[in-house]
Amino acid sequence: MPGLAERPSRVQWSHDVLEVAGLSDVGLVRAKNEDSFYIAEPPRADLARGVLLAVADGMGGHLAGEVASSCAVDFMSTYYSDEPFDGTIEEKLSQKVVQANETLLALAQTSQMLEGMGTTLSSALLVENGKLVICHVGDSRIYLLREGELEAQTNDHSFVGEQVRLGLLTEDEARVHPARNIITRALGIRTRVEPELSTLDLKPGDRILLASDGLHGYVEEAQIRQALMESPCASEAAARLVGLALDAGGMDNVTVVVATIREIDRMIERLADKSPGLAYAKTLPGLEEPEK
Ligand code: MN
Repeated sequence: MPGLAERPSRVQWSHDVLEVAGLSDVGLVRAKNEDSFYIAEPPRADLARGVLLAVADGMGGHLAGEVASSCAVDFMSTYYSDEPFDGTIEEKLSQKVVQANETLLALAQTSQMLEGMGTTLSSALLVENGKLVICHVGDSRIYLLREGELEAQTNDHSFVGEQVRLGLLTEDEARVHPARNIITRALGIRTRVEPELSTLDLKPGDRILLASDGLHGYVEEAQIRQALMESPCASEAAARLVGLALDAGGMDNVTVVVATIREIDRMIERLADKSPGLAYAKTLPGLEEPEK
């Protein structure tokens, strides 16, 4: 199956301007991890195109969920090898998501085992001057922690998410609602996909969190906020967040990507410039247990 063998369970790197950590865990109940994540890997000159982060939560029988989420993030990573693009970054990310959807639909046709597979995909691209472009489909989430306040930057494309926005359900009610698994937008399901786009201006000290619903579906935002605030580095924050999901029963696969913005000034230029002070680590499943 494409991409599956190479999926890391943990990636982290830190630099004077930016620190990033991703961690994925199967949880305590599920047999397989159908989540995938992507963190652009330095040192690479093409970081001049920005730092791409993504989390995907796959669905479907057999291996289909794993294939869907890993293919979606693999496809997004081809952003770095694409020809230069004339339009805006928002248009570019949106186009990548539409193409990822087409790729998944075509792949599903190739094997009966892959029929009906789908995935969420929350991606964020950090570009020069601290601009963060978000492109999102499904019920994974992207949060911003700024000056002690945690705020979701994405809407859940789910039945209960819509009910919460309409004021018909509270967040707590949504978390235990019998229809909480109904996704209203996903990749690989329909020929048309409409990604939700937004743009943020980041500040030094900001922390970005991308998470699958194995986190926010079981852990309250107050706890997520506290873990993000109290952790001195992104890798510890990621480990603490995954630990909270496991403490809550580990009912679902859980995946988090945490980025800490240290400096905005010439951030991307400095990252792309061979990055002498860079520390980097990657763990493949089965080679080493991720930190808990
Ligand atoms: Mn999930």
